This record gives sequence, structure tokens and C-alpha cells, in this order.
Amino acid sequence: MANNITIIGAGIVGIATASYLRRDGHDVTVVDMSPPGEYCSSGNAGILSPGSCVPIAMPGILGKVPGYLMDPLGPLKVRWSYYPRALPWLWRFINSTGRAQIEATADALSALLSQTFDAHLPLAKHAGCGDLIRQTGYVVVYDSEEACRGDAYAWKLRRDRGVICNEIDAAGIEKLVPALGRRFPRGMHLPEQGFVANPERLTKTLAQQFQRDGGVILQRKVLDIEIGERGPQTLVTDAGKLPIDTLVICAGVYSGEWSAKLGDPVPLEAERGYHVTFSDPGLELPMPVCSAQNKFFVTPMEMGTRIAGQTEFAGIEAEPDYGRADVLLAHMKKMFPQVREADSTRWMGRRPSMPDSKPVIGRATKFANAYYAFGHGHIGLVGSAPTGRIIADLVAGRKPNIDIAPFRPDRF
Ligand SMILES: Cc1cc2nc3c(=O)[nH]c(=O)nc-3n(C[C@H](O)[C@H](O)[C@H](O)COP(=O)(O)OP(=O)(O)OC[C@H]3O[C@@H](n4cnc5c(N)ncnc54)[C@H](O)[C@@H]3O)c2cc1C
Repeated sequence: MANNITIIGAGIVGIATASYLRRDGHDVTVVDMSPPGEYCSSGNAGILSPGSCVPIAMPGILGKVPGYLMDPLGPLKVRWSYYPRALPWLWRFINSTGRAQIEATADALSALLSQTFDAHLPLAKHAGCGDLIRQTGYVVVYDSEEACRGDAYAWKLRRDRGVICNEIDAAGIEKLVPALGRRFPRGMHLPEQGFVANPERLTKTLAQQFQRDGGVILQRKVLDIEIGERGPQTLVTDAGKLPIDTLVICAGVYSGEWSAKLGDPVPLEAERGYHVTFSDPGLELPMPVCSAQNKFFVTPMEMGTRIAGQTEFAGIEAEPDYGRADVLLAHMKKMFPQVREADSTRWMGRRPSMPDSKPVIGRATKFANAYYAFGHGHIGLVGSAPTGRIIADLVAGRKPNIDIAPFRPDRF
């Protein structure tokens, strides 16, 4: 039976969800204060990796945090004024590193993310942008043999879940990515992974196709949700009220206020990250490269080469600190001394992150006409299309092809 469905958020999660719901014949309206794909989904590293099934908080993270914070080139920064707000989230983050929880999270993420190509490709091909999805594999590099050995558990988690990870030496790294030379003694090659060559164009092109297929996108800011006996019944927007039948929350970092309003408070935090894109880097990269220790990816995008990473806790609204982008620039020059810096651009985005590294996917606990698809943190691009397909299954009354219990909103 066709429903009237309203989605808040036209990031990659909202647009992939809208596309899958429209394929089922529903009348779908997406509401966003900005044009599609211009918030966090625009500037990410583009990685599409079932191998991202390893949680961000791993055993031993607590011991590493002081070193990260003290190092001016480190991957983590908490603004002093934000510590009191960040601490409860960081506490949960650190407390999600028990072995049993790590294994269960890796299982849940693996089930979701292993479907990424299968779920993305039909949407991208239908929209005429299948060329953006590249299955090249990628390389992870280490500064020392010892650092690689220190990540042994993370590699075991991946291998146990069917991800092919081939250990390589300096010559093997150079053979795959000649621009790296032999600067790194040890690395891993993940041949089955991939990337999106322009994440913003992907979201915008899917959004255009969704509209050609009869979907509606309204540029409005949602100010409130009015709740009636059956559940959410009206969106109050800056351009008037919108009656709703069924609601899906895909509002990225802003989703927490809406899920709380619907009776599901969740610990959602803005985990801010940065990128620098080099429009004419003078580099040939056949595949993305990841620095395991400094936690960034360098991706050969269609508009240039992009280095993306960093984690900054400063809240949603604080001004960007482009000093964090300069840290990425310094890493880029170290990894590729030959890089041409002219005409590089910088960006900051807010990952919608849960402390246990798992998104919130499923029905609201109190209302049958409301669904959640948010909180994907570092895996919003890779997890978006699989999530959209799950929401379409739930709305249609079909059983999703994975167990979604680990993603339920009331797990905290
Ligand atoms: C540096 C960096 C690198 C990353 N690299 C990767 C990667 O390689 N692979 C990967 O899978 N993920 C990556 N990510 C994460 C990924 O980008 C995010 O998880 C993903 O973009 C989240 O998508 P979303 O649709 O949930 O949110 P968003 O893209 O933030 O979209 C949410 C939308 O909701 C709208 N909205 C919110 N509130 C309202 C309101 N009140 N009214 C109207 N509209 C509203 C916003 O305007 C926005 O358009 C990276 C992130 C960063 C910062």
C-alpha cells in the first residue's frame, strides 16, 4: 500500500532513503533547509568500505587519547569550553570497548556495510552516475612495523568477517601506489573496497533522479514537530505547516532533538572533521590511501585529490578551526612531498556520531508512523544506501535482510 512519507534531511542518508521509498511507489517529500547534499555529505573522504566494520572505540583507546590530545599534529581535539558537554558522550565511547561489545558491533556493522555496493549501484546507475562508484580497493600504510602489529586485533575483526586484507611491505606499497615510493615499511591492501569520486555530486544526482521519478524536495527549515494521538502529524516549518502521515528523521547531527521530541533521547554528538582538496596536486593515485596512525584518507576525487580526517569536539555551531585542516595539509606534504598546494580548498563537516559507532535505524519506540535513519558517524556514505533499503522494507512491512536490533533507538 502506498503511503505519504515525509523525510527530514536531504543528505546522502535522506536521499538514499527517499529513493528506495519512491521505488516502492510511495509519495515521498524530502524537507531540507539547504539544497541536497550540502551538509556533512558533501565533503567526506568518499570511502565505500565494508571493511569499516571495526568500531572507532577499540580496546586501549583510553591510553592513546592523551597522546592524541598533546600532539599538535594528532587526530583528536576537544575545545576546552566544550569538555563539560563532551564528557558524557566520551565516557560512553570509552565504555564501549569491551571485547564482547566490540565483536557484536563489528557483526552488526559488517551485516550493514557488506551491502554497500549492492545497495548503492542500482540507485547510482538509475540516476546515470554509476561512474562515480569506483571499486579500486585501497591501501592502509603504517610508519613502523610495530604500529602495524599494534592494530592486529582490528585486522582480525575484519578478516573474521570476510574482508580481504593483504599485508604488504614497502615494495608492495610502491607497486600499488607508485607516488608513495618506499616511505612506509608496512601496509595493508584491501582489494575489494572502493570509493565515490564526488560524494556531493552523488547526492545531488540521486536527488535529481528522485524528483524526475515523482519525488518532491522542499527547501524549508523544520522548526517543530506537532504530535497528535497517532504520532507526529504536522511539521512546523519556516514556510508554514506541513501535514504528515509517516515521518523519517534523517537530519544528521540535528536528528537527536527530533528523536527526543518523539520520546527517544539518544547520545548523538557532532564529531567534526576537515578536508583539504588539491585541484591540481600533480599526483597520480590509482586508489585511496589511508594513514592508520594519523587517521586520514587521501582519495583521488574527480575534482582533485582530497585529504580528509580529524576529529574535533566543539559542538554543532562553533566556527571551524581551520588549523585542523592545516594539520591535514602538513600530513599530506609528509606523505606526498611532491604535492602541489596551489588552489587547495578547505572544508569542515559534522559527523552525526553515536558513542558505540552504530547508527540508529528503525521505528520510533512510541509511534508506528515514525522512523529513524541517522547517527552514522564515520560510515554515513557507505551505510546510507543499505540504510535506505532497510527503511523501505520496514515501511512496506517486509523483513529487512539483516537483523536491525543492534541499531534500535532505545539501546542506551
Ligand atoms: C572529514 C570527514 C570524512 C568522512 N569520510 C567518510 C567516508 O569516507 N565514508 C563514509 O561512509 N562516511 C564518511 N564520513 C561521514 C559521512 O560524511 C556522514 O556520516 C554522512 O554524510 C551523514 O549523512 P547524513 O545524511 O546523515 O547527514 P547530512 O549530510 O549532515 O544531512 C543532514 C541534512 O539534514 C538537514 N537538516 C537538519 N536539520 C534540519 C531542519 N531542522 N530542517 C531542515 N533540514 C534539516 C541538513 O540541512 C542536512 O542537509 C566523513 C565525515 C567527515 C566529516
